[in-house]
Amino acid sequence: MTRTADVVVIGGGQAGLAAGYHLRRLGLDFVVLDAQSAPGGAWRHTWDSLHLFSPAAYSSLPGRLMPPQPGETYPDASHVVSYLTDYEQRYELPVVRPVRVEAVHRDGEFLRVEADAGTWRARTVISATGTWWRPFVPAVPGRSEFRGRQLHTVEYGRPADLAGERVIVVGGGNSGAQIAADLAYDTDLTWVTLREPRYLADDIDGRALFDHATARRRALDEGRTDNGGVASLGDIVAVPPVREARDAGRLKAQPMFARLTATGVEWDDGNRADADTIVWCTGFRPALSHLAPLGLRGPRGHVPTAGTRAVGEPRLHLLGYGDWTGPASATLIGVGRPAREAAREIARLLHG
Ligand SMILES: Cc1cc2nc3c(=O)[nH]c(=O)nc-3n(C[C@H](O)[C@H](O)[C@H](O)COP(=O)(O)OP(=O)(O)OC[C@H]3O[C@@H](n4cnc5c(N)ncnc54)[C@H](O)[C@@H]3O)c2cc1C
Repeated sequence: MTRTADVVVIGGGQAGLAAGYHLRRLGLDFVVLDAQSAPGGAWRHTWDSLHLFSPAAYSSLPGRLMPPQPGETYPDASHVVSYLTDYEQRYELPVVRPVRVEAVHRDGEFLRVEADAGTWRARTVISATGTWWRPFVPAVPGRSEFRGRQLHTVEYGRPADLAGERVIVVGGGNSGAQIAADLAYDTDLTWVTLREPRYLADDIDGRALFDHATARRRALDEGRTDNGGVASLGDIVAVPPVREARDAGRLKAQPMFARLTATGVEWDDGNRADADTIVWCTGFRPALSHLAPLGLRGPRGHVPTAGTRAVGEPRLHLLGYGDWTGPASATLIGVGRPAREAAREIARLLHG
């Protein structure tokens, strides 16, 4: 069966819902297709101890403040899932799930959205599929020789799963620091980072990051000097568990090793560390394989965009993913603005 919609939103995580909120306000005919069986996007899959790096009110989608989580300044992932579930219901967003979109094709005046649950003919498409679904592990020599277990951030759950093991955590970003802090007490931990860990000042959390990203956008809009984006502030938000482990001397980073061996890792100077498990906290890539038939792929696997609109296909917008679809677009508080811009552009395209 083929259905028709003015807008098909692919992905029903926070970015897809923010898009839905603005499409609804503009009175557009749309549907959100989401591969998950329940609301919450990637937040349904994170490790147990993950907390947001901003307080609830600073982690809100358009229209509705996230309520505080009792007893927590920084809400945990289950609280975000509850908030997104409520958000979806409150605004009666038409999310269909589970529906996995496999491909988007040009089809005359439509974009044909092919999914495991059927086909949609869309005048426009917003892709909001996130990055969690494409974990990235660097090509380090010897990876296939290691006989222990290798996990990525997406597969890590809790310290009890690795208790007593020799664990190597790789990665100097927020996931690496938080997972290393999580494992610092119950495992024999080695933490490996590409460069010396760069902590943000202890009193800086996601609020300051958002302010910095906003100031950067204004500066760029007004042709002033680029402040360097949030990366210029540091890589790691010193959330309380990271700060505690660091201050207790349990987060000593080693430089990146040169290769994996059958039993662990080896540095160029001959030093070695044996391991039962290696946890790769080495990031993500945008989940864009469904867009492959459109032939839009640019440098670093991104689709070149002007704002949120794909440069090579004006009927397609991209939301979330990273700053390349709008400053702070891949955050709860930051996605609202690019979502609004995408919805407005689509309304203009459809109705003049
Ligand atoms: C470890 C970690 C910590 C973070 N902490 C914070 C934080 O504290 N504060 C903050 O604001 N941000 C944080 N972020 C960033 C960001 O808010 C999250 O990554 C968020 O999940 C991104 O939302 P999204 O809607 O773009 O993607 P997702 O949450 O991944 O949602 C995408 C949805 O699309 C679906 N989908 C994917 N492919 C298809 C397909 N082909 N067809 C149909 N559906 C599909 C997925 O199943 C999913 O439901 C963090 C990210 C990570 C990885």
